Amino acid sequence: MNKEEFADNHFIRTIIEDDLASGKHQQIQTRFPPEPNGYLHIGHAKSICLNFGLATVYDGLCNLRFDDTNPEKESDEYVRSIKEDVTWMGFQWQGEPHFASDYFEDLYQYAIGLIQAGKAYVDELNAEEMRQYRGTLTEPGKNSPYRDRTPEENLDLFQRMRAGEFPDGSKTLRLKIDMAAGNVNLRDPVIYRIRRVHHHRTGDKWCIYPMYDYTHAISDAIENITHSLCTLEFESHRPLYDWVLDNIPIQTHPRQYEFSRLELLYSITSKRKLNQLVVENHVSGWDDPRMPTIAGMRRRGYTPAGLRLFSKRVGISKSENVVDMNVLEGAVREELENSSPRLMAILSPLKIELTNFDEFLTQSRSAPFHPHHEEMGERNVPIARHIYIEQDDFALEPPPKWQRLTVGGEVRLRYSYVIKCEEVVTDEMGNVIELKCSIDHDTLGKKPEGRKVKGVIHWLSAEHAVHATVRLYERLFTVERPDAVRDENGEYKNFTEFLNPHSVTEVSALIEPVANTLAPEARYQFERLGYFVTDRYDHTPEKPVFNRTVGLKESF
Ligand code: ATP
Ligand code: MG
Repeated sequence: MNKEEFADNHFIRTIIEDDLASGKHQQIQTRFPPEPNGYLHIGHAKSICLNFGLATVYDGLCNLRFDDTNPEKESDEYVRSIKEDVTWMGFQWQGEPHFASDYFEDLYQYAIGLIQAGKAYVDELNAEEMRQYRGTLTEPGKNSPYRDRTPEENLDLFQRMRAGEFPDGSKTLRLKIDMAAGNVNLRDPVIYRIRRVHHHRTGDKWCIYPMYDYTHAISDAIENITHSLCTLEFESHRPLYDWVLDNIPIQTHPRQYEFSRLELLYSITSKRKLNQLVVENHVSGWDDPRMPTIAGMRRRGYTPAGLRLFSKRVGISKSENVVDMNVLEGAVREELENSSPRLMAILSPLKIELTNFDEFLTQSRSAPFHPHHEEMGERNVPIARHIYIEQDDFALEPPPKWQRLTVGGEVRLRYSYVIKCEEVVTDEMGNVIELKCSIDHDTLGKKPEGRKVKGVIHWLSAEHAVHATVRLYERLFTVERPDAVRDENGEYKNFTEFLNPHSVTEVSALIEPVANTLAPEARYQFERLGYFVTDRYDHTPEKPVFNRTVGLKESF
C-alpha cells in the first residue's frame, strides 16, 4: 500500500520518528485491538488506518488482537466479521490473529506473582460496597477491610476462585495500589472477577476473567508492541497501564498514546447502540447499507480507498473529532469519480414516442463507459421508436432558465440526437403520461444548425432497457447527535426516537442492458443520479438490485 495514503504530520508520527531516530526502536509494532462484541464501525476504520497505516509508513508490523475478556457479549460471528472488514479495508495483520484469551494462563500467573509480592489481594466487597469505598473525584477512598490479608491467604483464595469454589460476584482480585490516589483508576482496581460464562474460545475452562486494563497492558507487552494507540478516554488509565507493566516481571514496556475518537454527525459510533438498532429491528442487520459499520458501508458501495481517504482527511489529534457526514461522502465520491464506469438509468420513467424514428435513418452510437478513462471501454447505446426519460426532465410549465425538455423545446439525448417535444399526452387527471417528440436527424455527433441546445439528459430505449430494483438512502437519523438529545429533565432521550422514517426507498428502475451481466458489488455511476453498487447479497444478473452509494453532489 502507498505510504502517501495515510494521515501525515500528526503527533504520533513525530513520536515514532524520534524513537526510530534515537534508536529506541529499530522497528515499530502496533496493534488493532477490537473487542469482538459487535461489527466494526467508521470509528474503527479510523483506528485501523492509524495502526496499520503507521506500520505501512514506517515499515513496521501491526497485529490484530481480539480483546475478548467479556465473554457474555462476544462471539465468533464478530471475530469473523472483524477479520473480513480489516482485510477488505486493504490491510494484512502480522502472522495469525491474536486473542487476549490466548494469554489467560500468563495473565493468571502474573496475578499469582502480584499476590506473592503483596501487590494484589482478594476482596469480598460487593459492587455497591466497592462503590462506597471508592470515594469520589474530590474525596479519597477507604481501604477495604480485606486489604490486609496475607499473601498466603490471598493465594489460597485466588486459586480457589479459579477452581470454582465461590459463587459469581462473591470475590474479586484487586491491585493494592492506593485508595487515596488522585486518579480513581489507581484506587485498587479490580483485575479479576468470577463469572461463569461460556467463552467463545476457552469454553468453560475459566470461571474467572481478567479485566480490560490489566489484560490490555500485558497483552501489549507479550506481543512486543512499541506504540499502543488508543482513544482519549483511556488517558486516565495510562498510569494503571504503566503500573501493571512496572510491577510484573516482563521485559518490554510499550508506551500508550491517546488520540481523539471520531464521531460522525447524523450517525452513531458505539457498538452497543448499533447493536440496539439490530436487535430492535430498526435496520435489517449489522450490514444494512444505512449502518455506519464497515460491513454496512461496504454494502452501500463505499470503497476501501474511499474510507482510507476519509481517515487521512480527518487526521489524528487530541482535539475533538466530530465530523460532518459530507466529509465522509465527499471522500467516497471523490474516489468513485475516477474508478466507476458510467451508465444511464431512469428512476421515474416518462415515455416518449420519437415520431419520425426511421429504422434506416436513425442511428445508435457507442459511448465510452467513462469520459476520461478510455481503458474502461465502450458499449452501444441503442435508440428505438420508444424511449424513456426521467419525469423531472420534463416540465409543462418550466421555471426560468429551464434547460431540459418542455413543450416546443429541444434537448439533447446523451450520446444521441437533439429532440423536440411536439405534443404532450395527458390522462384524465391532467398528468403527463407520454410525450411525442421529433428527432433532428442532423444532430448526431454534431451541433444543431442555427441554434443552441444547452440541455443534455439521460434516457433509455424502451425495448432495450432492463428492469432493476434501486434502493435510495437518506440519513439514518434526523438530528446531528441522536444520542445526545436530552428531555426536559435533562435525561438522554432514546436515540431511536430520531430514526429517519424515510431512510430507505425502493424504486423499480430501468437501466442499460449491461445490468444483466453484473456480479455483486459492481460499482457504477448512473449519469446525473449518483454512484450505485449492485447489492452484495440480493443482486443477481437476472434480477439486478442496486444501492445508491452517494449522490453526485453534497446533499445537506
Ligand atoms: P465501541 O464503544 O463502539 O464498542 P470501543 O472503543 O469499545 O468502541 P473496541 O473494539 O474496544 O471498541 O475498539 C478497538 C479499537 O478501535 C480501540 O483501539 C479503540 O480505541 C478504537 N476505536 C473505537 N471507536 C473509535 C472511534 N470512534 N474513533 C477512533 N477510534 C476508535
Ligand atoms: Mg469497548
